[in-house]
Amino acid sequence: MRPRGLPVDAKNQKRPAGEVHIIPERCKGCCFCIEFCPKKVLEQSPEFNYHGYHPPRVSNPDACVQCSMCEMICPEFAIFTTAARSGPAESQEMQSPPSGEGDARSSDGE
Ligand code: SF4
Ligand code: SF4
Repeated sequence: MRPRGLPVDAKNQKRPAGEVHIIPERCKGCCFCIEFCPKKVLEQSPEFNYHGYHPPRVSNPDACVQCSMCEMICPEFAIFTTAARSGPAESQEMQSPPSGEGDARSSDGE
C-alpha cells in the first residue's frame, strides 16, 4: 500500500542534494541551524571562532536536501547551501520550474 501523502510518481523523483557552506567567523553560536535542520545534518563544533563561539559543522553531509532552512533561520548570514556537485541537474529540476532556456523553447515552438 502506498503511504499516505506520497505523490503517485514518488519513485521517479530524485531527492535534492545540498552542500552546506559555513562562515565560522560570522557565527554567534545560537544553534538555530542545528536545531531546525530537518535532516540533522549539523552539529556544534568543539572549535571556537574568533569571537569565542562554537560554530556548527557538517556531521552528516549526505543527508542534506538543500531545503535552505539553516540559511533562512541564521540571524548572522553565516551559513548557506548550494546544490551538491553530484546530480545537480536533477536537484535543480525538482526545486524550481524551468526558466530561461525552457521558456524560450516553449514560446518559440508555439
Ligand atoms: S539545507 Fe536543510 S537539510 Fe541541508 S543542512 Fe540546511 S537545514 Fe539541513
Ligand atoms: S544559525 Fe547561524 S549564528 Fe546560529 S549557530 Fe547556526 S551558523 Fe551560527
